[in-house]
Amino acid sequence: MKKGILTVLPVSLISLLFHTGALARDGYETERREMIAAIVETVTETRSYTGIDALDEQVMQAVAAVPRHEFVPPALRSFAYRNNALPIGEGQTISQPYIVALMTHLMKVDGDSAVLEIGTGSGYQAAVLARLVRHVYTIEIIETLGRRAEDTLARLGFDNVTVRIGDGYIGWEEHAPFDAIIVTAAPEEVPQPLIDQLKPGARMVVPVGPAFGYQTLQVLEKQENGEIRETDILPVGFVPFVKGDREG
Ligand code: SAH
Repeated sequence: MKKGILTVLPVSLISLLFHTGALARDGYETERREMIAAIVETVTETRSYTGIDALDEQVMQAVAAVPRHEFVPPALRSFAYRNNALPIGEGQTISQPYIVALMTHLMKVDGDSAVLEIGTGSGYQAAVLARLVRHVYTIEIIETLGRRAEDTLARLGFDNVTVRIGDGYIGWEEHAPFDAIIVTAAPEEVPQPLIDQLKPGARMVVPVGPAFGYQTLQVLEKQENGEIRETDILPVGFVPFVKGDREG
């Protein structure tokens, strides 16, 4: 691991987080501190792609505060704070912490936002968002994963997240339009219903590309006139966006 300025910067951030009481005290403090340092390092390493020097401080605080070990299978707890994706069963994964932080940053949300997530998985990304926004609506197509995430989130006291089992392709019309949408599985093309359910001025963060092929993390920003402005951020590897029965 590289030493020097990259390892110095996070220390001040972490002491600030401890000072503000943002971090839970549950025996994983050291691991979380190292995870934050690893995220900061990866942000620096990828800035030639992303054009981003540092992630939003509130996003980093949210990531630093969520007990990631609660969202991974018990057998993998000791790996929970590594800056890697991990298997969560059913052939699915909890995303890499850096990717969770980056995608959250790109959503540009605040305490008034109502957001939609497609691909609840473990519920970890939803938990990070829940610390930043008014409400998270999240859809998971695999029932066992969705129910488990719902239980985990409830047990940890995240009362502003609603989980639905169904096909995220059609979005969640009853709660639309959204202030931001995040898709955590890769479709080959962005589902039109999700574009329709974005508010003007809102953003969708979505990995686009073939299953297990070359995918690009994109930001789609809906202009006030309804046009979509698309920005490529980074090459990524997500699990495929599954086509369901389209009945939600
Ligand atoms: N955000 C998750 C990562 C989940 S991986 C986390 O923080 O843990 C992507 C998830 O998307 C998988 O659980 C997969 O089952 C789900 N998924 C794939 N296609 C979907 C679809 N059409 N609708 C809803 N969920 C889908």
